[in-house]
Amino acid sequence: MRIPMVAGNWKMYKVRAEAEAFVQDLRAQITHLQDVEVVICPPYTLLESVIRAVQGSPFQVGAQNVYWEEQGAFTGEVAPSMLYDLGCRYVICGHSERRQYFGETDETVNRRLKAALGVGLIPIFCLGETLEERETGVTFQVCERQLINGLHGLTGDQITPIVVAYEPVWAIGTGRNATPQDAQEVISYLRGRISEKYSSAVGEQVRILYGGSVKPENIQALMAEPDLDGVLVGGASLEAASFARIIQYG
Ligand code: PEP
Repeated sequence: MRIPMVAGNWKMYKVRAEAEAFVQDLRAQITHLQDVEVVICPPYTLLESVIRAVQGSPFQVGAQNVYWEEQGAFTGEVAPSMLYDLGCRYVICGHSERRQYFGETDETVNRRLKAALGVGLIPIFCLGETLEERETGVTFQVCERQLINGLHGLTGDQITPIVVAYEPVWAIGTGRNATPQDAQEVISYLRGRISEKYSSAVGEQVRILYGGSVKPENIQALMAEPDLDGVLVGGASLEAASFARIIQYG
């Protein structure tokens, strides 16, 4: 059984007081947490405060990126074991903003996934097509390439805990979300490719999220799709009220 997940990506927003107030508000607003895993991914500078603030709650904390080396002269980078040591259990890898603005490639995403898994961090592995790619009809090829290259060299056992996030780039931060049917179509295709490459058991176990302008207003319709195991939320995860409504979608 795949446990649904709602993950919030705060991107480069909030300072400590805001983060602490957010967690307090969120805790107050969660009245019926059904069977759903909740992960908050703040910027590096807030990880420690948020980890402290969520103690005693069911919320988990993830980072938004990680480097692939364990230590060394890599000024400005953060190693997987540093995140794990802090109390992070998840890490976003390959977000489209990192691919678009920071030169992330399938190969560097693959290195990050391996390094994260190596210390017990669960990667939230993002992939998705651009608007141009969708309009030229290559969505499936692009997503498949990102999936297969990202997972290169990993075994079925290693990939089972990975959470894949299908995030069409044209839907991120634009207010223009994919329809639940669009999301289901690509996600079910990705699950099929995982089953084909590894096994149907692995395909059935890997969680696949949708991300792109998820809001309280569209969460229920998205979650009704059979292959969609949860959501990665950007903008709507910044306000405790909207994030709480998304978490309590049932
Ligand atoms: C994201 O940053 O991963 C995201 C999906 O953003 P938004 O919900 O704002 O589209």
